[in-house]
Amino acid sequence: MRGGALQRGVPNSAPTRLEQLCPLCQGRSLQVRAAATVRYEVVFDADARDFVVLGEHLEDEGWDASSAAVCRRCGWQGTLELCLLER
Ligand SMILES: [Zn+2]
Repeated sequence: MRGGALQRGVPNSAPTRLEQLCPLCQGRSLQVRAAATVRYEVVFDADARDFVVLGEHLEDEGWDASSAAVCRRCGWQGTLELCLLER
């Protein structure tokens, strides 16, 4: 189980059948926190005397079953693998 490339809110694939994930409220979605680094491509505008961002590149560190998860519905906190064990 791995999150793969971050696509800003776009699911990896359209889910067809959702299982209950939260051990407390049986909610079907959990929020996973993952760190990411943004690299900006910048230039210096001599007239404005300021930096201008030309583009940005997002490098996420991904997530897996050991990542921390939170249920926004009831507040349960644990890892994704823990919520699979607690069923
Ligand atoms: Zn819950």
